[in-house]
Amino acid sequence: MLQPPPAAPGMPEDEIDTPALVLDLDAFEANLDRMAGFLTNSPVKLRAHAKTHKSPVIARLQIARGAIGQCVQKVAEAEALAWGGIPDILVSNQVVGAAKLARLAALQGISKVAVCVDDAVQVGALEQAAAAAGTRLTVLIEIDCGASRCGVQPGPAAVELAKVIAASPHLIFGGLQSYHGSAQHKRGPEERAAAIGHAAEVTRRTVEQLAQQGLGCAIVGGGGTGTFENEVASGVYTEIQAGSYAFMDADYARNEQPPPFRQSLFVLATVMSRAIPGVAVVDAGHKAVAIDSGLPLVHGRPGLHYVGASDEHGKLLVEDGAAPPLGEKLRLVPGHCDPTVDRYDWYVGVRKGRVECLWPITARGGMG
Ligand code: PLP
Ligand code: MN
Repeated sequence: MLQPPPAAPGMPEDEIDTPALVLDLDAFEANLDRMAGFLTNSPVKLRAHAKTHKSPVIARLQIARGAIGQCVQKVAEAEALAWGGIPDILVSNQVVGAAKLARLAALQGISKVAVCVDDAVQVGALEQAAAAAGTRLTVLIEIDCGASRCGVQPGPAAVELAKVIAASPHLIFGGLQSYHGSAQHKRGPEERAAAIGHAAEVTRRTVEQLAQQGLGCAIVGGGGTGTFENEVASGVYTEIQAGSYAFMDADYARNEQPPPFRQSLFVLATVMSRAIPGVAVVDAGHKAVAIDSGLPLVHGRPGLHYVGASDEHGKLLVEDGAAPPLGEKLRLVPGHCDPTVDRYDWYVGVRKGRVECLWPITARGGMG
C-alpha cells in the first residue's frame, strides 16, 4: 500500500515532509540526455536497469530517449513495469520456483519478456511454465564473465546449455547475459578497463562458438554505470544495462574518473536535535538511506559530516560556524542509490526549488 505523498506540486522544497526522496529534475533529465547522446550513432542500445528506479514513469522517459526497453532483477519488478505499460523487459537474473515462473509466463501476454538461466534444470522448469501458459519465452544464458556470482562458464558449457534451450519447443534462445558486477566500482579506470577487456573477450569467444553451432545471439547484454563505455567500445555487446546513471550516488562518485553524470537523487532530511555541542541529528537514519556502500554525504553544506546512522537518527558532526538551525531541511547524497529508492513510495520531483511532480515507486518492496 502506497503511503500518501510527502508533498504537493507547487510547494517549495523546504516544505516537503521528511524523510523524502527528492529528484532534482534538471540533473536527472541531463543524465538521461547525456546517456542518450553517448549512444547516438552507436549500434549499441540502452536497456536501462529498472532495479534502480523501480518506476514505469522513469522507464518511459528513458524509452522516449531511445532506450529499447528495460532490465529488471526479479518478477515483481517485471510485473510493475509490464502493468505500467512497458513493452520490452529482460529479467537479467535467474528466476527459480514454479509460482514465480508462472507469474513470469503470464506477463508474456502483455509485454515481451525474456529471462536468464545458468542451469539446465532451470531450462526444464521454464519450458514447463511457458507450455502451461501457452506461450514462448525468450531465454538468455548468463555467463560468468569475471565476477563469479552467477553464470555458466563461457565457451563450451554455454554452448551446451544453448542447445538445451533451442531444443525446447516453448523457449527461444535469445543470446547472452554477460554482466561484470564487481568491475563497476573498481576505483581505477585501468582496472575497470582490464576487467571488461576480459569479459568482452570471453563473451566474444562464446558468441563465435554458438554461431558455429547455428545459434545466433540476438542480444548480448551487460555493462553498468561504471563500465558502459568499455562494453560499448568492445564491439561485442548489443545492449548495455546501466541503471544508476540516472541518479548517481556517493559510492560511484568515489570512482577515479567517475561516470559523467550529475547527482540527481537526494534524501531530504530535517534537523531534529542539536542538544549535544558539535552535533546535529537529522530524521534520516539507515531506514531512510542505504548505508551498505558507505554513509551519505551532506550536499551543499561543507561543515556538516554525516558520521553515524541508527534506525531513525542520522548523526552529523558540525564544524565551527556551520551549525544548522533546528528544522532546517538538508539534502543527503545516498551512498548507494538503488536500495535507497526501495525505501520510498514516492519520488518528489523538484525543479528550481519547487515541487513539480510526484511519481509512485510501484516496484518497491521485498516481493520476489
Ligand atoms: N545489470 C545487472 C545484471 C546488474 O545486476 C546491475 C546492477 O547491479 C546493473 C546492470 C546496473 O548497474 P548500475 O546501477 O551500477 O548501472
Ligand atoms: Mn547498485
